[in-house]
This record gives sequence, structure tokens and C-alpha cells, in this order.
Amino acid sequence: AKRQGKGRVCAYSSDLVENVRTRLNLEQGMHGALQRNEFVLFYQPVIDLYESRLMGFEALIRWNHPEFGLLPPDKFISIAEDTGLIESIGSWVLDQAAAQIKKWAQQGRQDLFMAVNVSARQFRGNYFLNELKTVLQRHEILPEQIEIEITESMLQDFHSIRKMVLGMRELGVSVAIDDFGTGYSSLALLKYLPVTRIKIDRSFVISLPGTARDVGLFSAIMQMANSLELNVTAEGVETYDQSQILRTMGYPAVQGYFWGRPVAAEDYDEVWIKNSSV
Ligand code: C2E
Ligand code: CA
Ligand code: CA
Ligand code: CA
Repeated sequence: AKRQGKGRVCAYSSDLVENVRTRLNLEQGMHGALQRNEFVLFYQPVIDLYESRLMGFEALIRWNHPEFGLLPPDKFISIAEDTGLIESIGSWVLDQAAAQIKKWAQQGRQDLFMAVNVSARQFRGNYFLNELKTVLQRHEILPEQIEIEITESMLQDFHSIRKMVLGMRELGVSVAIDDFGTGYSSLALLKYLPVTRIKIDRSFVISLPGTARDVGLFSAIMQMANSLELNVTAEGVETYDQSQILRTMGYPAVQGYFWGRPVAAEDYDEVWIKNSSV
């Protein structure tokens, strides 16, 4: 009878229950994770395709979880957003990323930029611009060394995001639209937001070289960006062939596993950063 009882419990424990349990576990652990120094930033290189030269990095957060190991952001960012912890985590990310780009600047590369992802919630209230300004001053970096990546999903409140983008541009900080082309209003965004870069989503790069339509679509986006004087990054470049066809389409900046995976700062060789010819 006892065994039967145990079996019954098993029958009720579904993936859903397991997921809720994991989520609760992560949520509990996240309080205090900053203090325990469990977050780490990885940096993925962004490459100038024309000269095969390092232009900058994107900072991508990881959580070094004591039980689950190194967790990617999709496992915990939404929890951080729901609980509000993203505000303090986001502040840490900005500060840490700024400190790192300063280090690389001191190694002779003041021309490199650092792209930082933000969540909508970090734009609540009017703290963000002040924080950005403080971070620039604290680390003595040039405003154009920081690029803030926003996504279309952040645009529920269009008016406030526009104010934020204008404020960032006034500070001299660059602003990129991430995952460009995946939402419904990408073109409207370009019309109303004075951004400096679009990052063409991986889904457009995956299909390259592909058919004439795939190529046509990509080069149409490139041409539009050129006429709006926007910088372009192609995301998720995984192969040599993709890099080659992107050369024929106007040399966007590239980011992807082919050129370098996101890794810890210590994994970058000082000499490579300095010379940075890939
Ligand atoms: P994202 O901003 O679109 O970042 C690009 C993601 O694509 C990264 O995943 C990166 O590791 C991955 N990636 C780069 N090159 C390639 C490639 O060639 N092939 C493939 N298949 N993937 C590639 P990651 O690091 O897991 O980050 C996922 C998402 O989490 C990011 O997407 C971003 O939206 C979010 N995120 C990361 N760091 C932060 C952060 O500090 N704050 C906030 N709010 N969100 C973050
Ligand atoms: Ca991004
Ligand atoms: Ca992206
Ligand atoms: Ca994304």
C-alpha cells in the first residue's frame, strides 16, 4: 500500500510542477545572488567585416548558480524582470560592462565599444539616464563607447521609450535596436526613434546564402539602413559562407559563433585585443 501511495505522488508530479519548483528555487536564490557575486558577464566580439577588425563587444550575462552551474539568461532574466530584481542586476551589468571596456581602453583600445542589453523595467522612473551619466563619469569612458540595446518588445510605452532614447543620444551614448526585423513595427521604430544602429536578427542570417529572396530581403534592409545612415550588425553569423555573402551586401558589422563566442573577459588575450586583426 505504501508503494502504491508513492507511485500516486509520482503520477501527479508533472513537468509543470517541476518547472514551478525550479522557478521558485531560482527566484529564491536570486535574492542575494548579486551580493554573493554569482553573476558574470561574457563578452562576444563584434567585428568590422571590411577590415576583419575588432570593433567592440556585447556583454551577455550568465548566472553561476551554486546548484545548477552556469545558467544562460533565458533561464533567469524573465524571473528577474517579474520580481523587479532586474533593476539591481541591470545596474550591476552596466557598471561591470563599463569597467571592462575601460580596462580594454587602457590597453590601448579607446575605439572599442561595449553593447549592453537592458530590460523595459530599467527604464521605469527616471533613474536610468542619471545612472548612465554616473557610470560614464565613474569609469571615465567616452559616451560613444557605450551602446544600449533596446528591443521592440520594450515599446509598450512608446512615449517614455522615445524620451529615453533622446536622453541617451543627448549624452552621446549609442542606441541599437536589437533583433531587428522580428517584430511588427520595426520600420515605425526607425521613423520615431533616433537610434544609431540596427542589429539584424539571426533569423535573417541563418537562411544565407539561401535563395534570391533571402538575399534580396537582407540587402534591402542594408540599403534602407544605409540611406538612414544607420550602422548595421548582422547577428548570428555562424559560417564562412555567410560572412562572404555579407561582404557582397555592403559589409555590415558581424557578430556570431564564426567570429567568436561569448566568453569571460579573462579569456581574451591582451595582444589580440590590441591588434585585433582576426
Ligand atoms: P540577444 O541580445 O539577442 O543576444 C544574442 C544571443 O545570441 C546570445 O545568447 C548569444 O550568445 C547568442 N549568439 C551569438 N552568436 C550566435 C550564433 O552565431 N549562433 C547562435 N545560435 N546564437 C548566437 P545569450 O547570451 O544566451 O543571451 C540571450 C538573450 O538574453 C539575449 O539575446 C538578451 O536578450 C538577453 N540578455 C543577455 N544579457 C542580458 C543582460 O545583461 N540584460 C538583459 N536585460 N538581457 C540580457
Ligand atoms: Ca542584444
Ligand atoms: Ca539580438
Ligand atoms: Ca534576442
